[in-house]
Amino acid sequence: MFSYFSLAEQLLLAVNKLGFDKPTPVQIQAIPLAMEHKDLLVSAETGSGKTAAFLLPTLHRLITLPSTKFGTRALILAPTRELARQTFTQCRKLAEFTSLKVGLVTGGDDFKHQQGMIRRNAEIIISTPGRLLELIEQESLDFSHLDVLILDEADRMLDMGFSEAVLAIAGRCNSQRQTLLFSATLTHYGVIKIADRILKNHKVVALNTLYDGHSNIEQQIVLADDNEHKQKLLAWLLLNETYNKALVFTNTRIKANELQGPLRGQKLRVGVLHGEMDQKDRNRMMELFRAGEVNIMIATDLAARGLDVKGINLVINFDIPRNGIDYIHRIGRTGRIDELGLTIALVKATEWNLMAGIERFLKQKFKRRNIKDLQGKYKGPKKLKASGKAAGIKKKIEPKKAVAGKVKIRHRDQKNIGKRRVPGTKPASTEN
Ligand code: AMP
Repeated sequence: MFSYFSLAEQLLLAVNKLGFDKPTPVQIQAIPLAMEHKDLLVSAETGSGKTAAFLLPTLHRLITLPSTKFGTRALILAPTRELARQTFTQCRKLAEFTSLKVGLVTGGDDFKHQQGMIRRNAEIIISTPGRLLELIEQESLDFSHLDVLILDEADRMLDMGFSEAVLAIAGRCNSQRQTLLFSATLTHYGVIKIADRILKNHKVVALNTLYDGHSNIEQQIVLADDNEHKQKLLAWLLLNETYNKALVFTNTRIKANELQGPLRGQKLRVGVLHGEMDQKDRNRMMELFRAGEVNIMIATDLAARGLDVKGINLVINFDIPRNGIDYIHRIGRTGRIDELGLTIALVKATEWNLMAGIERFLKQKFKRRNIKDLQGKYKGPKKLKASGKAAGIKKKIEPKKAVAGKVKIRHRDQKNIGKRRVPGTKPASTEN
């Protein structure tokens, strides 16, 4: 019951209208601490209800402690425009019965309109760090009376290279403010460093760590010979699986664009989302997907973080993500709050090691699945089938006779003997 939190009546009305019956674990833990105006470092993934976990105590504070001073009172930073827009929408819904004004400041949207909105004194601003810094440099934004600073998806923000911007923005904020830092993981070096710099005597709320097995998501692998075979498998799955909405991930923008034509040719309602698209088109795509006008979205990792679209119960990895953390974020778009989801990875020979590495990283084995209508030649790595070692069969393997001049060991292979790639490590990336 939300009434347990002693939130302002206007907020309980909004929570009720949204149909939230009972608080989620992150809300149970974070809301009371945040209401005591403590700094928090919270590990929680999207889908856990974390947005309301930071919005409700923040709105409660702004309602119960009205300020006579001009200026922004709560600032929420998010890594991508889509996530910022989503948080903005949720904030407006939760603030529906209050007089608080909420502003959205992101790149790609009209600069003048945003300046005007800030001048009209929105008490709450939700923004991406890049655009906010631009605005700070253009005119002096006043964060000297800021009550609460929130960094959402901080690990992603830092991976996207926003570390300096975040520090610069935090440096412009009232030093007496409360800071709430939300991250999918607490073991991210950048997050630890930033938390050290900008949080004061903070409490840690650690839940839903990345390594928790997603028990409500069935994870499958389908082997594929090549990209052409993958395209056939993809079309088959989208035509034959039962789902409400499906999200298909590719590693590149080019591949995302390429896949849509043939699928549309099969009369599937397909949209595309990637970072090279104009912001207006990105927003429109998201609206169409939310409304169900298109029920299949082909996307790059831009859509893997934070996006909360109701009814996604199928996620297909057309390309295997580059590391385990990206995999978790992609599949996390389904199976949200008590819903069931299915995720299918299409794996070709060159991706086998990457996929096996992700399984090791997550300490999980995904279910192998065959599509009878589209059997391929690739049946998994030869080593597994031939050696019998993996199946626990002890067999003496006769060493091959080396024929002088014929056996070559590449220098690269020699260097890597005994070394294991750690798929969970993430290279710095920009919006894709
Ligand atoms: P988030 O993790 O903040 O992206 O939230 C995921 C989804 O859960 C959003 O659609 C929220 O509206 C919804 N949600 C948040 N809190 C609750 C709750 N207590 N009960 C049901 N749904 C919720």
